[in-house]
Amino acid sequence: MKFVDEYRESESVRRLARALARRTTRPWTLMEVCGGQTHAFLKFGLDALLPKEIELIHGPGCPVCVTPVEAIDRALDLAARADVIFCSFGDMLRVPGSERDLLAVKAAGGDVRMVYAPLDAVRLARDNLTKQVIFFAVGFETTTPATALAVLTAARQGIENFSLLTAHVLVPPALESLLASPNCRVQGFLAAGHVCAVVGYREYEPIARRNRVPIVVTGFEPLDLLQGVYRCVNQLEEGRFEVENSYGRVVLPDGNPSARAMVDEVFGAVPQRWRGMGEIPASGLALRPRYAAFDAARRFRATEPRTEPESPCIAGLILQGIEKPRDCPAFGRECTPEHPLGAPMVSSEGVCAAYYRYRRLERSGQGAKG
Ligand code: SF4
Repeated sequence: MKFVDEYRESESVRRLARALARRTTRPWTLMEVCGGQTHAFLKFGLDALLPKEIELIHGPGCPVCVTPVEAIDRALDLAARADVIFCSFGDMLRVPGSERDLLAVKAAGGDVRMVYAPLDAVRLARDNLTKQVIFFAVGFETTTPATALAVLTAARQGIENFSLLTAHVLVPPALESLLASPNCRVQGFLAAGHVCAVVGYREYEPIARRNRVPIVVTGFEPLDLLQGVYRCVNQLEEGRFEVENSYGRVVLPDGNPSARAMVDEVFGAVPQRWRGMGEIPASGLALRPRYAAFDAARRFRATEPRTEPESPCIAGLILQGIEKPRDCPAFGRECTPEHPLGAPMVSSEGVCAAYYRYRRLERSGQGAKG
């Protein structure tokens, strides 16, 4: 197949759903890791095509959602400084910190700008030499090469008024952490194809073996997603626990070596706090010492972390696949995309936003399984 339409062709999708139903003999619980996949399952109604034995639970693959509140508070403090232009991807602007969000800082006079790429922030720094330009670097392995490129560009061009507030996160340690939880119900993972396009899938192989879970690298179109589920179920039915690449048109076993080398040049793995999941060893990235001059956390004095306010938000449980959005008492009531109480309702990859957009009119227990 060459064109995206072919991956959405309804008869092929139905045929694959029927094959999946024939292949499934027992209940299986699968997690799609990426928020983009969650949205696609719900948007295309694929969850409703799955056999009743298969339950999908939704993973932590929404970068905005897992950014800890203390990182957002730090961003808010920096963005409020008169000498700073604070740059962020759009989703991050509305994610609540402990007291307000970046849009509120902007409304109060802060110079907060939405950018589409980290290099935009480098350009802003070059054009505004009297200001400090800070880029809020969030995201999984998919976005880290662009951040690394920004740092390398700033270093090469001698742009000293550019820095990063870094909250990047890595998928494999998060999967290990989920699997180690006594509450974990995951029997197989659909791994995020775009992450694997950068880093490949070798790192997943020991995780699959050690934990006896199939991991299928999966794309984002309807046929990709159903194929990912089929291959996961097929392994489970056969008692196999391997990594399979179901997104071969994009993903190679070693990913993109140039992108990986660039990231490795700039960043090293460090422990990282995830919202609702606590600290996970080696799951974040910090600038290596030779690029430490670009670290906003070092350039600007840290402020005291604030106490998180009481909130009905159960994002932590949702991001671990323990609960679903409709289990949250605030879903669709106090918490809506217009008035989000938590990041999963803000982000374009957030699971609460996906349920609100595609499933809020259905009664609990119908449509999306669970
Ligand atoms: S519906 Fe809103 S309050 Fe509830 S978990 Fe989702 S983001 Fe948090």
